[in-house]
Amino acid sequence: MTVRHSRDDQGDSRDLAINPVFSREPLQVPRYALPRAEMDPDTAYQIVHDELMLDGNARQNLATFVSTWAEPQARRLMDQCAAKNMIDKDEYPQTAEVETRCVHMLARLWHAEDPRQAVGCSTTGSSEAAMLGGLALKRRWQHRRRAEGKPADRPNLVMGINVQICWEKFADYFEVEPRYVPMEGDRYHLTPEQAVELCDENTIGVVAVLGSTFDGSYEPVAAIAAALDDLQERTGLDIPVHVDGASGGMIAPFLDPDLEWDFRLPRVASINTSGHKYGLVMPGVGWALWRDKKALPDDLVFHVNYLGGDMPTFALNFSRPGAQVVAQYYNFLRLGFEGYRRVQQTCRDVATRLAAEIARLGPFELITDGSEIPVFAFRMSEGTDHFSVFDVSAALRESGWLVPAYTFPKNRTDLAVLRIVVRNGFSHDLADLLLADLRRVLPRLDKQNEPHRTADDAGGFAHGAETKNPRSPGRD
Ligand SMILES: *Cc1c(COP(=O)(O)O)cnc(C)c1O
Repeated sequence: MTVRHSRDDQGDSRDLAINPVFSREPLQVPRYALPRAEMDPDTAYQIVHDELMLDGNARQNLATFVSTWAEPQARRLMDQCAAKNMIDKDEYPQTAEVETRCVHMLARLWHAEDPRQAVGCSTTGSSEAAMLGGLALKRRWQHRRRAEGKPADRPNLVMGINVQICWEKFADYFEVEPRYVPMEGDRYHLTPEQAVELCDENTIGVVAVLGSTFDGSYEPVAAIAAALDDLQERTGLDIPVHVDGASGGMIAPFLDPDLEWDFRLPRVASINTSGHKYGLVMPGVGWALWRDKKALPDDLVFHVNYLGGDMPTFALNFSRPGAQVVAQYYNFLRLGFEGYRRVQQTCRDVATRLAAEIARLGPFELITDGSEIPVFAFRMSEGTDHFSVFDVSAALRESGWLVPAYTFPKNRTDLAVLRIVVRNGFSHDLADLLLADLRRVLPRLDKQNEPHRTADDAGGFAHGAETKNPRSPGRD
């Protein structure tokens, strides 16, 4: 799991030998125990710095969706706010005000009927935002069931099997039965008919993903909402939709303004996005918004004292850094609508061009082409079976590129893909360098008689595109 020590043959008690060039004490420090006494700050800095050199280069990391670059001005503001705690609304009223402004900006961006009525908050990321969205759905359903004198002990949540693992966690931690619609043939995400089929009176909501982590595709939110409208007409079941817009929530408003996926659809109760993905902030900030106060039951909201007044909060954490929220506000001010549109359009241009070039290489076939969120997945083409996507991933790693390879979930576990996430800062030039490296390794891979690597050899860096239950050991 996440608490992973890299234990070597010599056990985990092996001390860390400090380069004697410093000529400073101590020359040995324990690796897994608290050192006995203090040390010089420069020595401590150098030890930590040198260990971290072994981390991958963030800019060559094409696996993550999370921002790996920010403007120096944003970093300066973050530095200035590093000591501010988001929860201290009273002590840092202006940070609280900045958070409120961001919520209102997002409510407008997502077409809330009356943006002043929309409610929302910052979170540590989309995972926390998803927990809050899911909890609101569960609580609303429980209230309704109890009011009707019906049992409220078997809630379920309907979603595609392609949902990010945060939804699997939500279901597990908060005891909601997850109902996953499996993949089938060329259908790699949730579709209206399949969603409705799994709904019943115990369904607290349907999660629609705008930007699937598996292949970057948008789920058809409007069609899913329409199918649920129809279900309500036929059966009386009124099932709300939560949109997981972790990535797409900050892409679609700028690049696909006519796509109706947000609060324009009355059935959409809540939306989350990751400020640290296409919101362009460094990790960790996310946002959760509800269309109005009715969508967020008041008994989930806690009240803190704020300048003598009352400040409602809804969050899993208490203390949390304010720096990321401030950086989000900086980005909103700095870029404005047009700036975001240009950044996201550039990402889409790079993604679609890179996808097209990869398709032209021969051994690959595109699953998606980067024209929704700027993320695309590709597989080995029919008949290319002497090397695998896992071989390609390993070969690219030789030149520092982190391109994950993984298999799809039920019922397409036969399908293995590579995925590239194009983020701000991954330029046409870097894309060309990646292509050059890919062209360089292909002749060598082509000489193989059979794949050298399989899914078991893949690194665990698919970022949420992991296999769902039964829990696989490789999912961290
Ligand atoms: C990344 C992602 C998440 C999790 O978001 P974090 O901000 O990393 O917590 C949830 N859903 C989707 C669709 C994602 O892409």
